[in-house]
Amino acid sequence: MIKTIPFSPPDISQLEIDEVVDTLKSGWITTGPKTKKLENEIANYCQVEKAVCLNSATAGLELSLRLLDIGEGDEVITTPYTYAATANVILHVGAKPVFVDIKKDEFNIDPTKISEAITSKTKAIIPVDFAGWPVDYDEIKDVLENKKHLYSPKSGTWQKSFDRPIIIADSAHAFGATYKNKKIGSIADFTCFSFHAVKNLTTAEGGAVTFNSFPNLTSDEIYKKFMLLSLHGQSKDALSKTQAGSWQYTIEIPGFKCNMTDIMASLGLAQLKRYETELIPKRKTIFEIYKNELKKNPKLILPPFVSETKTGSFHIYPIRIINIKEKERNEIIQKLAKNGISVNVHFIPVVMHPAYTKLGYNINNFPNTYNMYQNEISLPVYSKLSEDDALYIGKTLIKIIDQI
Ligand SMILES: *Cc1c(COP(=O)(O)O)cnc(C)c1O
Repeated sequence: MIKTIPFSPPDISQLEIDEVVDTLKSGWITTGPKTKKLENEIANYCQVEKAVCLNSATAGLELSLRLLDIGEGDEVITTPYTYAATANVILHVGAKPVFVDIKKDEFNIDPTKISEAITSKTKAIIPVDFAGWPVDYDEIKDVLENKKHLYSPKSGTWQKSFDRPIIIADSAHAFGATYKNKKIGSIADFTCFSFHAVKNLTTAEGGAVTFNSFPNLTSDEIYKKFMLLSLHGQSKDALSKTQAGSWQYTIEIPGFKCNMTDIMASLGLAQLKRYETELIPKRKTIFEIYKNELKKNPKLILPPFVSETKTGSFHIYPIRIINIKEKERNEIIQKLAKNGISVNVHFIPVVMHPAYTKLGYNINNFPNTYNMYQNEISLPVYSKLSEDDALYIGKTLIKIIDQI
């Protein structure tokens, strides 16, 4: 019998089940006390003033752009080496995505190339902590600082609280990662996390944004604006509205609808309890097994996961096979599948998708992105993956690679 090893199933224990059942029995299932509790615990975990929970990282990214009034006529810099969500939100608000290539041998955006892309229209940058490996935040901040004479904030908006383009991190992969001994979530101006089913910490669907106060702009004001934007601009949330005699509300702005429910939040609360003690250590063990197994093969380039300044979140294990092209990469994936191993490719660069080629973007302008993509394979990583299976995956991969 051959094995069947999935790519990234969720790790749901009795703790998650009990917490969800508790919510179901509580009489309150949408945004309420559990969501607020999860927000506080996330802020605490990330050592940041505030966290807001939403129904996805995508919503977090889009609402961050909207509360800063970034839109028509503005440019937002990001990386082509990401999932479409990162760039789609820029289009949703009517701004122009300006893609900047990644480094030569790293999956993350190249700070020196950001410098060249900054114009007087640049309002924000969305870097991506690919695979949970933090971008070079200090280098990015230096580049933005050096070009701050170009920054022209729109009057009457919160853009005025910044003196350089705003950093909205897509840290969908990076919950728990650290940069220079600080938790991701406390470093960028706004940090967006994903709790989608395949992510390190899951609420099935969900996400959070973390932030501190800025000059003339408190984290409480930002939090309130997130509440308005995520619930139709309604002055009171559903729970406060149900208090006897408290039925009245106003619609302050034509907002959106992307709040988190207490059912989702209860999953998150249980996952967070297990995160540092169980979920992360298990993922780290898988990374170590892969490293020990695969480092013997000179055809493979392995991802970093701990350095002097960074600790990743062990989200994705992206290997690269030297000197192969897309076709051979895809053949290796088929051979792994025949051995019962599901892998993935992270990511098909955004600019290769028809939605973006139609807008005139072209992968030829991003040679580093293409070179990394064409020989990349992401191996299964999840907390329930057994050490034996991780070894089997490593050994099978080596065998297949030695045949080509
Ligand atoms: C998963 C993912 C997102 C989107 O997260 P959702 O919570 O599904 O909206 C955004 N960016 C990256 C890099 C992702 O992998």
